[in-house]
Amino acid sequence: MARKPEGTQDLFGAHMRAWLAMQDCARSVFGTYGFEPFETPTMEQLDVFVHGIGDTTDVVQKEMFRVLSAQNFQRALEAGTEQNLKASKRLALRPEGTAGFVRAVIENNLIPQGSSPVKAFYCGAMFRGERPAKGRLRQFHQVGAEVVGAEDPALDAELICMLMEFYQALGLAKDSTKLLINSIGDPHCRAEYKKKLSAYIHSHLDDMCEDCQVRSTTNPLRAFDCKNETCQEIMKDAPKIVDALCDDCAAHYAAVKHYLDEAHISYTEDPALVRGLDYYTRTVFEVHVEAGLGAQTAIGGGGRYDGLMEIEGGKPTPAIGFAVGFERVELALQAQGIELGGTHPACVYVVAATPEMRDAVFALCRQIRGAHIRCEADYQGRSMKSQMKQANKLNARITVLVGPDELAHNTVGLRDMQTHEQITVPCDAVVDELVARLNDDAFAQANFI
Ligand code: AMP
Repeated sequence: MARKPEGTQDLFGAHMRAWLAMQDCARSVFGTYGFEPFETPTMEQLDVFVHGIGDTTDVVQKEMFRVLSAQNFQRALEAGTEQNLKASKRLALRPEGTAGFVRAVIENNLIPQGSSPVKAFYCGAMFRGERPAKGRLRQFHQVGAEVVGAEDPALDAELICMLMEFYQALGLAKDSTKLLINSIGDPHCRAEYKKKLSAYIHSHLDDMCEDCQVRSTTNPLRAFDCKNETCQEIMKDAPKIVDALCDDCAAHYAAVKHYLDEAHISYTEDPALVRGLDYYTRTVFEVHVEAGLGAQTAIGGGGRYDGLMEIEGGKPTPAIGFAVGFERVELALQAQGIELGGTHPACVYVVAATPEMRDAVFALCRQIRGAHIRCEADYQGRSMKSQMKQANKLNARITVLVGPDELAHNTVGLRDMQTHEQITVPCDAVVDELVARLNDDAFAQANFI
């Protein structure tokens, strides 16, 4: 029997409802900030990620799922390399949403000269070949938001406010989330800093892992992301980028903090926060929770990427964004006793007292659904008793009982599944009666349709 790939999940039932609830919540919270929904392909040309995320990052070097058509795969096998394939034939599943979004902004010319910033959000699956663990999947889901076209520090703060509002709207307790922020400067001040950092790593090279030994020259900032405990200890005393910011970057960072203070958003400055991808500049941030996630405590993160538009082939354009991990938020909510997917939605169940009632049940279901009421019935010739059991299982608030005696008088029975009160109603009044009763039922109102 085939099994799902390692580190992936099937989405159904409460889990699926939770994912939909998170998307609805994003639409509602982000909508008030003027964000429009956006969708890019699940796969992009490999270069979109290699150039954008950085070819020395773990995501690109170790974790990306590559995609080749069967024909191109065969060609690459025969040639012993895929380098002969055109760039357009070398694809990868997206490990994150920003690089593809920026590609789409450029390709569709969404920021012609002088236009307002593009504000967009997306919800979708991302793919990383990481070692699966609690809260760490190979196919996971993110809700992300991006703004391209502005460098105003108020925007950084506003985006962070929106992110924190989103967590609260999802139900996470305010004091359970911790916001970390940092500034990693721009390519100019970072160049100087990288030299200092590289020298520091070199002075500890013998104690560091092989990856960090390479990183010390290729991309020393990535040593902050190293999962090796000794490297992490050594990096705690490394020079801090925030001390090496140029005047402009320092002023930008100070302004972001000012706006966060104005908005009463509490944050912790974390000088070791550099994020795992190369495209970030200036403001970076992450949100962590303490309970429910084991080692994977980050439930979201983001930052400025003022250089990415240019890297992907567009005009230099400042931008900022974040992404939130659905599965981790769901785990964090569960640890706080909250089911994001709620209970099974309520319904009305139409019971056939005898098999001869099938046609009448069929017609009634059509009438009830016509009034936009979720309606269920039996399709397997169940006894009346087992239809009632199924009605309970499907969270029926009301059952409609269709029997030969009632039907002879052109009536049906309506039974309230909570109070067990039962009344007889003329067939042509069933829908009105259901609508009236369900409108009075707070639970049904909250859960229907
Ligand atoms: P990142 O940009 O890597 O920080 O990812 C943003 C968010 O996506 C993280 O804070 C996590 O909540 C989530 N995330 C990242 N990688 C994974 C993964 N492998 N499995 C589940 N969630 C993930």
